[in-house]
Amino acid sequence: MKYEVILIGGGPVGMMLAGELALAGIKVCVIERLKETTPYSRALTVHPRTLEILDMRGVKSKLISKGRLLSRGHFAGLETPLDFSVLDSSSNHTLFLPQSETEKVLEEWALSLGAEVRREVEALSVHQDEDGVDVKIAGPNGETTLRSAYVVGTDGARSLVRKHANISFEGTDATFTAILGDAVLSDLAPMSVISRITEKGLVSIMPINDHMYRVLIIDMERRNISKDETVTFEEFRSSIIRTTGSDLGLNDVKWMSRFGNATRQAGRYRNGRLFLAGDSAHIHFPAGGQGMNVGLQEAMNLGWKLAGAIKGWAPDWLLDSYHTERFPWNTALLRNTEVQTLLLDVTPPITELRSMLANLIQIPEANYQIAAQISAIDVHYAPDAEAPPHPLNGKRFKDLGLKLKDGQLINSYPFLHKGTFLLLHFHFNEQNSGQWETYSNLQVVHASLAEADADWNDVHTALIRPDGHIAWAISSSDPNPMQTINEGITRWCGNITD
Ligand SMILES: Cc1cc2nc3c(=O)[nH]c(=O)nc-3n(C[C@H](O)[C@H](O)[C@H](O)COP(=O)(O)OP(=O)(O)OC[C@H]3O[C@@H](n4cnc5c(N)ncnc54)[C@H](O)[C@@H]3O)c2cc1C
Repeated sequence: MKYEVILIGGGPVGMMLAGELALAGIKVCVIERLKETTPYSRALTVHPRTLEILDMRGVKSKLISKGRLLSRGHFAGLETPLDFSVLDSSSNHTLFLPQSETEKVLEEWALSLGAEVRREVEALSVHQDEDGVDVKIAGPNGETTLRSAYVVGTDGARSLVRKHANISFEGTDATFTAILGDAVLSDLAPMSVISRITEKGLVSIMPINDHMYRVLIIDMERRNISKDETVTFEEFRSSIIRTTGSDLGLNDVKWMSRFGNATRQAGRYRNGRLFLAGDSAHIHFPAGGQGMNVGLQEAMNLGWKLAGAIKGWAPDWLLDSYHTERFPWNTALLRNTEVQTLLLDVTPPITELRSMLANLIQIPEANYQIAAQISAIDVHYAPDAEAPPHPLNGKRFKDLGLKLKDGQLINSYPFLHKGTFLLLHFHFNEQNSGQWETYSNLQVVHASLAEADADWNDVHTALIRPDGHIAWAISSSDPNPMQTINEGITRWCGNITD
């Protein structure tokens, strides 16, 4: 087989997954029907947990150089913004950057690692058998069939892979639509922000750069129009006037779109050799700017597991854990977008509720809880049932400061750049006879904490998964740490050594 994995769809999620697989040495090909990255801004926010995972691969700094960091987010456009600066994270901010830019950076990253991207090629069908998957494609050279061990549908909301995998997509249809446009508004002072909800509807205006604004409107007069009806310049202008009182000097529109609040999720994310990730697995109203972020986090969850199955070191349960781990978080995501949608109403009780919630968010604990959810900093997975219990098991791994044997102070995320497991061993005088270093998918770091950390003070050794979650941590009081560590490594990293 020329390819081990074929990804159908080269949006942000496909490119991220292509990078993850290529990083793990997998022969991966992306099939994308578009000639080049879509120029539309769509996702404008890259949230804290996504920035963390991109930092783990050394990609965050490149993205940051192209956008603007903001310490604030929002929930349902409430008057009180969410304060991300209080999050216990080295990325306690969001990055404001058009999706087209994020996609370009991810594509360059994937290509630099050896992924192949075949553009202007459309996938027509997908058929799996016991040994692999056939993908029929059509491109400039006509039709042909490619074969690979696995296929992932990163092909968006209307996913062909989901249909051919016979996976349900249950949920609710849209009950209203909104419009958006990226436009020049010459009457606004540079970098103005407008967020307003009145009986005429909701309008949110954010600067994309010095001269272009993202305008999003739920116009009460137009909210029942079908998503498939094209937005005209006149309609867009009228809606701006209705909701703000003037056209704000609208004189150039780069892109206009209409979208609804249809909310659906795939019944499962895997059927045999076929997987789903990103919008192919879930759709929802883009409230709080979470869709792309969650898709990128899924790619991070799936990539190393798929690579492990192909390389032969992954235990049987690992591939299935992609669905088990991600599905409940995405169900919660759909619910939080539905709650936000309910709050986008102008009736007196909802207006009152908005005002109550805006007041509540001023309480630090309330802000923290919602900020942690929207930013995905709260995501954690079920603890390893066979490891001794520890509060860190399954939790997200933050960029812990380390002190190496030679006294050097260093952050831990750079140790995840290669996409391997990371064993943090805080007892460097102990003898391990070097047996851990023989694992090809494990990097061992002997260190101590750079500074005291309540969550980590008692940790003897921890195994960090390639996607930046803590597989297990064992406490210094463990009666037989060497045995616990060795068993834990074998359980997660397999028996394969170089
Ligand atoms: C107005 C709006 C604002 C948004 N704002 C945010 C935000 O601030 N933050 C956020 O996180 N998310 C946001 N989102 C959501 C975000 O845009 C999506 O979640 C994201 O694009 C999903 O990425 P994806 O790679 O899964 O799918 P897509 O971006 O849809 O990419 C799928 C790709 O597959 C290709 N494809 C499909 N079928 C085939 C085929 N048969 N053969 C070959 N190629 C195929 C398509 O051409 C496409 O390039 C917003 C969405 C909208 C509409």
